[in-house]
Amino acid sequence: MNTATPPNRYRIKPIDPRAHLFEVECIVDAPDPAGQVFRLPTWVPGSYLVREFARHFTAVRARCNGTTVPLTKLRKDTWRAAPCSGRLCVVATVYAFDQSVRTAYLDDRRGYFNGAAVFLCPDGRADAPCEVEIEAPELSAGADWRVATTLPALDAPPWGFGRYGAADYDALIDHPVELGHFALASFTAGGAPHDIAITGSQRADLERLAADLNRVCQWHVDLFEPDTHRAPFDRYLFQITAVADGYGGLEHRSSTSLICRRDELPAHGMETVGDDYLTLLGLASHEYFHAWNVKRIKPAAFVPYDLGTEGYTRLLWAFEGITSYYDDLALVRSGTIEPARYLELLGRAITTVLRGPGRHVQSVADSSFDAWIKYYRQDENTPNAVVSYYVKGSIVALALDLLLRVESGTSLDAVMRALWHRYGRKGEGVPEDGIEAITSEVARRDLREFFARYVHGTDDPPVAELLARVGVGFELRPSHGASDRGGKPGSGPVPRAALGAKVTGDMKIAHAYSGGAAEQAGLAAGDQIVAIDGIKATSELLRTRLERGPAGTGVRIHAFRRDELQERTVTLDEPAHDTCVLRLLDAPEAETAARRLAWLGS
Ligand SMILES: [Zn+2]
Repeated sequence: MNTATPPNRYRIKPIDPRAHLFEVECIVDAPDPAGQVFRLPTWVPGSYLVREFARHFTAVRARCNGTTVPLTKLRKDTWRAAPCSGRLCVVATVYAFDQSVRTAYLDDRRGYFNGAAVFLCPDGRADAPCEVEIEAPELSAGADWRVATTLPALDAPPWGFGRYGAADYDALIDHPVELGHFALASFTAGGAPHDIAITGSQRADLERLAADLNRVCQWHVDLFEPDTHRAPFDRYLFQITAVADGYGGLEHRSSTSLICRRDELPAHGMETVGDDYLTLLGLASHEYFHAWNVKRIKPAAFVPYDLGTEGYTRLLWAFEGITSYYDDLALVRSGTIEPARYLELLGRAITTVLRGPGRHVQSVADSSFDAWIKYYRQDENTPNAVVSYYVKGSIVALALDLLLRVESGTSLDAVMRALWHRYGRKGEGVPEDGIEAITSEVARRDLREFFARYVHGTDDPPVAELLARVGVGFELRPSHGASDRGGKPGSGPVPRAALGAKVTGDMKIAHAYSGGAAEQAGLAAGDQIVAIDGIKATSELLRTRLERGPAGTGVRIHAFRRDELQERTVTLDEPAHDTCVLRLLDAPEAETAARRLAWLGS
């Protein structure tokens, strides 16, 4: 902390939990004599959408030495206080009712905030140290609330209200704060204490969760620091909010905020790792890997962050895709799940990619660049026009890892360590061509063609051949499964025809896929299917019709578009072969078996 500069001081208080209102002050001791300007970020690092946090600022006013100072709004997110001498305090009422990990939330049961959504930054003082007083609500229900954050305490007791500090504004907004009641567990990994604070469930087997996360976290630390085995932070916090239905995570430098379903928390006496718990472990593993990849190894475009406008980079496929590759890989490599189970997850990821026609239209590099207007703003046309830099990025990472293993005798692990040494540890940003350059260097070969085809182009990475060379069989089965998302193979008879659309449980068309039967017949997203061949439409009826097939036969569909009834004859498509099933090949030759062992640890 820079002690020479007077700190920016903040105070945040839940003033009216039932109205979801925080009161937030920002105090500057020596304001700009020309009129101090204050800005609020428009986005939060890790979530690439302009969210306009200033929308929720109301009643913003300024005081100096006890008198009101005129405050002028200059832009959507910027205010200027009239010139004054002495201590200037800007105080705002902030509405907080977003139950996600990206903004702020407050009711009479809990509170949560990301600094980016509540703390103004005084212009010219982003590098000054910050102090923040976190006050308890007056509400009787909040009297015994506690505080979970990795902001370093100044005089606040452990898990308590009081004063916290940060080295600068960037640090201030990178330690989200949870207020309320939470269950706690802890463990040590990488030489640092790790805490888990869970809100919304008191019944989980915390010992089990701590033991599993301990193993996974240590694996990540060892990947980046095979010699010292030390984490790059003094402590780490998993802030978990368990809800009936929800999913999401946001990475921070020494913590992560996760939202999960209650079913995903491990139950006492649970012997195997079920699919639900596996989802939570994968999410926690993902965010923890980010403590290196994106929080410390960053695109140059984010050094420093400009939170007033979009931060453009074509590298999110590496920061999110490589992270998505390692999240489940860490589970198998750390011995938390079996290789066969890992291959199931990997098969589903490949299936998800293969079911998206948008992968032929957009590259993962372009998807990264346009995250702000496309991936983060999905609509009915998204599957046709957008590729996920997460999922396809993870498959590109897989292909790169396997290519390095079979052709160069090295691996993506070595690339990540090189990125960590060259950029992350030094606090330098990775230039736009930096991932390709460092990968080629580690591989000692020219990887231009790989990057041109699979990163900047729209070709499918050659994972089937590469997997064969590490002793894994790759098979594509007919499209089967309720969801085009999770990519999980379905059960029951395999359909003999396809509609070329995603239809929801209430028989509404969510997506009509490019060139598919539904689109060709004139059906569109939003259409409400009411009858199939003259019979009342249900999911069951549609499923049995597609099972009967065959492709090429016609189906008469009645559907409402808005309030107009339409009749269409759909000529059914062939079902695509896009369900990927992977398996460990029996008795591979010695070299292949050795590669597989090095890759999967089995
Ligand atoms: Zn991520």
